[in-house]
Amino acid sequence: MTALPLVLTVAGSDSGGGAGIQADLKTMLALGTHGMSVLTAVTAQNSRGVQGAWELPVDAVRAQYRSVVDDIGVQAVKTGMLSSAELVETVAELLAGTDAPVVIDPVGVSKHGDALLAASALDAVRTRLLPVATVATPNLDEVAQLTGVRVESETDLRRAAAAVLAFGPRWVLIKGGHLAGDAVDLLTDGSEEHWLRAPRLDNRHTHGTGCTLASAVACGLAKGQSVPDAVSAAKEYVTGAIAAGFPLGGGIGPVDHGW
Ligand code: PLP
Repeated sequence: MTALPLVLTVAGSDSGGGAGIQADLKTMLALGTHGMSVLTAVTAQNSRGVQGAWELPVDAVRAQYRSVVDDIGVQAVKTGMLSSAELVETVAELLAGTDAPVVIDPVGVSKHGDALLAASALDAVRTRLLPVATVATPNLDEVAQLTGVRVESETDLRRAAAAVLAFGPRWVLIKGGHLAGDAVDLLTDGSEEHWLRAPRLDNRHTHGTGCTLASAVACGLAKGQSVPDAVSAAKEYVTGAIAAGFPLGGGIGPVDHGW
């Protein structure tokens, strides 16, 4: 019998291997866990962007989830690209029935500007998915899309966090990486506040950063860490992975998991 912590990603495939379930599974391997995947969509993707995307049928998503949960079990779940309102609702319904901690990365748009979630799915993310989250990990664009709060400085991060928490996740990690200066994130449950700072890294090869961070948080939670400890270790992991990001193809290369 394996003693490895069991971690599940519910996300889309990136054929280029930099983001999506490929980044998730690499993170899970690097962090000493057993990674499993429920595929929601397949993208034709490389370092230059997303050339095509296809959703899987709802029944296929449900069946993959049942196969994993009914036999193997999960100790933490992470969600990424969910593509449509129907898939968001299906995944939210499945996760409402689990006792495992759930990390929701409310993926909206890729770094290249390709939509990974339909605009018509935003409401289901707010009202169905965020309420089942142990931790939600939006970036500033996702915060703006979901809450209308535009973060322009560190002081706005608190307001953004409160607006996301109003939808019901237990904790929120607002990723302020797109602000100028140090990469500052705010983790809060509405009473405790943890400010996480890392020096800005001069590396454009950051494809897969968000997927990697959310997966690393899920790995920590599967190992029994508290949310603040899991997030702090995940931030350290992703900072190392960004520092080691490398060129691939003609565009933006991926973060590296072998550092
Ligand atoms: N492709 C897939 C399948 C993803 O899930 C994600 C992010 O979650 C991306 C692409 C975007 O990655 P990035 O914004 O790091 O380029």
